[in-house]
Amino acid sequence: MPHYGGAFMIIVMKPTADKGEIDHVVEKVEEVGCKTILLEGTNRKVIAVIGDKRDIPPEYWDSIPGVEKAVPILTPYKIASREVKKADTEIKINDHVLGGKKIGVIAGPCAVEDQDQINYIAERVKKAGAIALRGGAFKPRTSPYSFQGLGEKGLEYLAKAREATGLAIVTEILSPEHIELVSSYVDVLQVGTRNMANFLLLQAVGECKKPVILKRGMSATLDEFLLAGEYILSHGNPNVILCERGIRTFETHTRFTLSLSIVPELKRLTHLPIIVDPSHGTGVRDLVLPMSKGAIAVGADGLILEVHQDPEKSYVDGPQSITPEDFENLMKEAGAVARAVGRDI
Ligand code: PEP
Ligand code: MN
Repeated sequence: MPHYGGAFMIIVMKPTADKGEIDHVVEKVEEVGCKTILLEGTNRKVIAVIGDKRDIPPEYWDSIPGVEKAVPILTPYKIASREVKKADTEIKINDHVLGGKKIGVIAGPCAVEDQDQINYIAERVKKAGAIALRGGAFKPRTSPYSFQGLGEKGLEYLAKAREATGLAIVTEILSPEHIELVSSYVDVLQVGTRNMANFLLLQAVGECKKPVILKRGMSATLDEFLLAGEYILSHGNPNVILCERGIRTFETHTRFTLSLSIVPELKRLTHLPIIVDPSHGTGVRDLVLPMSKGAIAVGADGLILEVHQDPEKSYVDGPQSITPEDFENLMKEAGAVARAVGRDI
């Protein structure tokens, strides 16, 4: 990983900060092993922090009395950073582009179940405007006794659905050993939340040239998420799509807590496209539509949604799956929000 020396943060003190407050901040900085340089302006004082303690978030310093704002001046990630590349990265997914004006919607069942199921859903979501078909063939399940996916057979069904509809195929990859197999069938590789910090897998998808959807670890901070993206980028694959899919909190009314505020923050920090998964992010069918609209309103470049023709019979994630009819309606309503924020769908 890149290693930066020198100052990494500026702590701007309030004009009213007194000597005691400044000394206290200096003491705190030194406590974590960094050095300080005090810069005295006419109106206020600024403390430059020298060292390499990037794991302490700026908010920590913001809460110390007398501090107006702690401003990081170098980010821990490099290739992913807007400091390095200002323009948005646009990623080609077959005939479509993700990360431009048009919002890209990826839809399909949680798991591939059989050829008819996947073909039917593919046709319906394509007709409603999806740019790609999702479907798991290798499923990362909490219990070893749950349905684990159809494996290669599932990949074959997905490839047939692509033949029938022309939709690009997105599927999850669980292990570096599967890279060759999975990438020979599909167009986009998905790294799931449970594997966001599987660095060997990140390296393997980084060495492959297929676009990668990197889902945020369910307990990952923004920096950890972006650094996982940086792993893929630093191994040579520039086609990284970040996906917010909800994090674990104390809240139980939803399956996860969909952290939409990360979207505009990521937009500020990185040039990579960001999509949102309101299906896993809420776990609740009725919340998928409002959170999809919310995601677009806050600047997401795309959505990934679970759609099933008979959610009650779905092998996996039925409670959060919407029907093809719901999906058609969602595309209309989300389209109105997209246009309101200067995008298309
Ligand atoms: C999925 O997309 O089906 C999935 C398992 O997602 P996540 O990794 O976000 O749980
Ligand atoms: Mn699922």
